[in-house]
Amino acid sequence: MDRLIEGHLYQNTLTQLTEAASLMKLDPNILERLKKPKRAILVSVPTRMDDGTVKVFDGYRVQHSSTLGPCKGGIRYHEGVNLSEVSALAMLMTFKCALAGLPLGGAKGGVRVNATKLSRSEKQRLTRRYTSEISSFIGPDRDIPAPDIGTDAQTMAWIMDTYSQEQGYAVPSVVTGKPIEIGGSLGRNTSTGRGVLYSVEEACNHLKIKQDFNIKVAIQGFGEVGASAATCAQELGLCITAVSDVGSGLYNEKGLNIPAVKEYYQKNRTLKGYKEADSITNDELLTSKCDVLVPAAIDGVVHENNAKNVKAKIIAEGANGPVTLEGHHILVDKGVFVVPDILANAGGVIVSYFEWVQDLQNFFWSEKEINSRLRDIMSTTFRVSLEHSNRHKIDMRKSAMITAVSRVSSAMLLRGLYPQ
Ligand code: NAD
Repeated sequence: MDRLIEGHLYQNTLTQLTEAASLMKLDPNILERLKKPKRAILVSVPTRMDDGTVKVFDGYRVQHSSTLGPCKGGIRYHEGVNLSEVSALAMLMTFKCALAGLPLGGAKGGVRVNATKLSRSEKQRLTRRYTSEISSFIGPDRDIPAPDIGTDAQTMAWIMDTYSQEQGYAVPSVVTGKPIEIGGSLGRNTSTGRGVLYSVEEACNHLKIKQDFNIKVAIQGFGEVGASAATCAQELGLCITAVSDVGSGLYNEKGLNIPAVKEYYQKNRTLKGYKEADSITNDELLTSKCDVLVPAAIDGVVHENNAKNVKAKIIAEGANGPVTLEGHHILVDKGVFVVPDILANAGGVIVSYFEWVQDLQNFFWSEKEINSRLRDIMSTTFRVSLEHSNRHKIDMRKSAMITAVSRVSSAMLLRGLYPQ
């Protein structure tokens, strides 16, 4: 398996795990197991295209650990998806769920496809066939998918329907991030971005930074995480100076009007041409003048070559793995406070957990209740990691990882090995 899953994000995640293991003197038997997924499923996804031809895409579902509960993790449709990336993200999910104290394990899935080139019906056929291929490995008690890059609430609705048709009855709790009409949770689609901003609030409190319009925020990625982080930042009274999507970015030193940018983006499907801002590249955004940087698009964007030019005092990792380990060392040496991905972007899985609980109970909560519970968990998780970081004089990435790994490790030792 080692050869199949090696790759830069996997190596990066493994380094974080082994560093944490050495600092906390983790049982070496536990470390050996945590280095690898519990199960990795590879499937071919033959899909009929609109012109009648059949294209075969590679699909993956990797379950890293189910020690703390059913596996949980998103499904990504992207050209860069491969077994190594999905395995790394599945491992991060194990630690993210454990860090937030959720009774869930870690998983991730994906299909290697450029989803932007698919028509709606092609995407539906691909999703249903992929679901059918992995359906014996998922389920409310086994593994519960959710949206990620290239997938959304509609994709989850197709997965839920395909799985339910195969079971013979409606099973809303098989996925989270669904539309409200079929058992989705209020607040789920904004939860990751909202959680990122709650972690920024905590970081500002810790650093004694007053939160007002003088605080400039730059956000990379204007998808589910980036756009909702921008909305939440504006709600909190902060000044959003830059946003971007894959094609282009916007910069306005005096602050962007986020509702207007969102409206423009929804209408034009691009940020290009928006008048009330200057155009900026993704690379320029990362090193632009700001107090808070939220990389909320893809992994590896802040690295050894650009980290020294980052001007932000706080980085909250909205995306998974946006800062490489080399980049992280440079940032920490510069005194930048980095809120790591397993903490900063945990809001999505926390509200996913709420959605799963609501579906299992057929009892739904108000958005106010959801946001308040989300804030409680984000604050507690942040404070536990910060306390650990201060006590052991380690950075937040290490302290979050150690907290998470120790919870998984305790549960593994209590449960034991079976069959022997
Ligand atoms: P999304 O597909 O909704 O949005 C992704 C955004 O990134 C888009 O604006 C896209 O244009 C931009 N982008 C894509 N490639 C880029 C590139 N090369 N350079 C710059 N921008 C690029 O995805 P999302 O759900 O917002 O997820 C974004 C990140 O957050 C991913 O790393 C994902 O794993 C992570 N994440 C998402 C959730 C969630 O609930 N959606 C939860 C936790 C973590």
